[in-house]
Amino acid sequence: MRHAGLRHGLAAALGCLCLACPAQEAPPTVGAKAEAEGEPAAAPARESEPAPEPAPAPEPEPEPAPAPELELAFVGDIIYGRYRDSGFDPIVEGELPPFAAMAAALEADLSFANLETPVVETLPEKSPSHADYRFGASRAMAQSLVDAGFDAVSIANNHHNDQREAGHRETPQILADLGIVAAGAARAEAPAFRFETLEYQGWRVAFGAATTKLNMPLDEPPPHLPWAKTEDLLAMIEGPLREARASHDLVIVSLHWGQEYTDDPSVRQKRAARALVEAGADLVFGHHPHVLQGIESHEGGVIAYSMGNFLFENAGPVPKLTGVLHLRYTRSAGRPCLSAARFDPAVITRKPYPHPEPAEGRSGTQVRDRLQTLSRRLGTAWRENADDGSMHMELPQCAGAPHAEPAEASEQVGGEDPQGE
Ligand SMILES: [Zn+2]
Repeated sequence: MRHAGLRHGLAAALGCLCLACPAQEAPPTVGAKAEAEGEPAAAPARESEPAPEPAPAPEPEPEPAPAPELELAFVGDIIYGRYRDSGFDPIVEGELPPFAAMAAALEADLSFANLETPVVETLPEKSPSHADYRFGASRAMAQSLVDAGFDAVSIANNHHNDQREAGHRETPQILADLGIVAAGAARAEAPAFRFETLEYQGWRVAFGAATTKLNMPLDEPPPHLPWAKTEDLLAMIEGPLREARASHDLVIVSLHWGQEYTDDPSVRQKRAARALVEAGADLVFGHHPHVLQGIESHEGGVIAYSMGNFLFENAGPVPKLTGVLHLRYTRSAGRPCLSAARFDPAVITRKPYPHPEPAEGRSGTQVRDRLQTLSRRLGTAWRENADDGSMHMELPQCAGAPHAEPAEASEQVGGEDPQGE
């Protein structure tokens, strides 16, 4: 979130997180009561000495007008370290802020990430899991999510079991304490898939997360993550999605899925993502392959099949290429209109420790080329803003949009885009 001071307003608005809860109501009674008690019923009789001024009644907070626009930001996988035979090996040492270099690129009203690691109060010395790759983060490490302004994270992913029961129990609690919404928590009771609600300046945003990947047997006792095979995602999500659509301005579905280190999503993934958009999702926010894949426009929605890494020790030539996806929505008579989709290229650098920074020069070109090439295979074109190196998706202009994209938006893109499969 752009303004740190507003975080508390968001946290207060997040008191109701389940879809079935009634909409949060502003508490006007407090202000109204104070006014009634503080205001004298009639002016006091005048005496020679002026009566002491009654204590001014606090002004009731006026209901703010809904913001005309909302900007959301999304990044890929975040981990804080992994277990080796010698013990936990942190990515970020000491007090170094891992996201500081990305502060400007992360500016948005609400920002989201995939938190690919459970969070526990204190990391045990030895891994409680025997999986090949075992991650973890302490409460102190997760504080950097707050410092970077992240508002919500998906925790439905294959590493959520890496701290076993403590991770299931403590991750949602610690994130809630930090004021961060966690979507996709493991639950003992059905339904596993649920939407959380974020409220910001009159906007209601539903955020749900599911995974097709688990580093644990399916027959483990509860709690269970919201898991389904790719071809069964729609069946699990469609009902809650249609309900969320009716009670929210925007609906985001986070999916941990796909094949690691592949350039393109599978046919099944494309089919599932497009069906979710057609059922009402504004964004399918994908991750797990550890590389950036194409970002597609589909029937007014956006599909980011894999956002790649964001804070990750793998800084190889392709896994290091990443960025921040910004979606700006404008209020309109019906559903909000997607008025801008921007991608700020970033790169994971190794020095003094792996962390993301804006991609400039050669790495900026590599990120832009990758995004453009892989998105074109999906039938979507992006254009570069030569001034700052950001990428912009070709979109139809919103009717009555206050900040419609300038006409030069369509300059560099021809009509040769291949049809997506
Ligand atoms: Zn994963």
